[in-house]
Amino acid sequence: MDAEIFLTMEEAKDAMYLDLEHYGIQEDTLEEIADLAGGGWPNRFREVMEGGESRIYDVIALVRELLNSPTVTEEVFCGALSIMFWSGVRKMRGQEGEDGVSLTTELHGFGCLHCGQCCTELDYSRSLTSDDIAMWKKAGRHDILAWVGKDKEDGGYIIWVNPDTGEPQEPCPFLASDHGKHACTIHELKPSICREYPATKKHGFMTGCPGVELMFKRECAG
Ligand code: SF4
Ligand code: SF4
Repeated sequence: MDAEIFLTMEEAKDAMYLDLEHYGIQEDTLEEIADLAGGGWPNRFREVMEGGESRIYDVIALVRELLNSPTVTEEVFCGALSIMFWSGVRKMRGQEGEDGVSLTTELHGFGCLHCGQCCTELDYSRSLTSDDIAMWKKAGRHDILAWVGKDKEDGGYIIWVNPDTGEPQEPCPFLASDHGKHACTIHELKPSICREYPATKKHGFMTGCPGVELMFKRECAG
């Protein structure tokens, strides 16, 4: 069985908007969602999508309107998420009784190829959390903390920043490579963004994870 991710209703909606911001207008996906919602939604979506990528924020506003519409049933809400995230979705309550949904990651059969791409090319530089910092402080890993920079304007964390030059470092300084195979030298203490990648099959596919692409090929082959 697939691992599942719990999101509150608001987190689920935000994930939809972020997906569109990151990956752009996904016409077939949005048409499918609009068809599922029925009524005047298909025409409204078609109209706004005719403007192409320049209308991305209008599209997001329309998705926001759809997800918050009192006429959209729970079934349509979950269906829209399922279409958007290529995932099984069901309503459930969180540990504190909050309303939310559970998404399957659809990553059964995924095997990391240790290609190192996610340590080299993905833009995760702004994804460090305060829990990551706390984990390294608790472990006394000042050697890792030394590579964390701070944005001068918004104070947010940035990884990885060379402590000697103050310049961004890519690939990650904790990536060890040997004859085409790559390994994380801080595996037990890697930041959450690395532990959670790829979060879902769609996430891996859209960001070009070769392990997920191979999984797709195998599924297509039979
Ligand atoms: S990009 Fe995918 S296959 Fe390559 S190391 Fe990262 S998770 Fe593994
Ligand atoms: S911390 Fe480890 S998993 Fe994360 S980018 Fe660096 S080498 Fe890759």
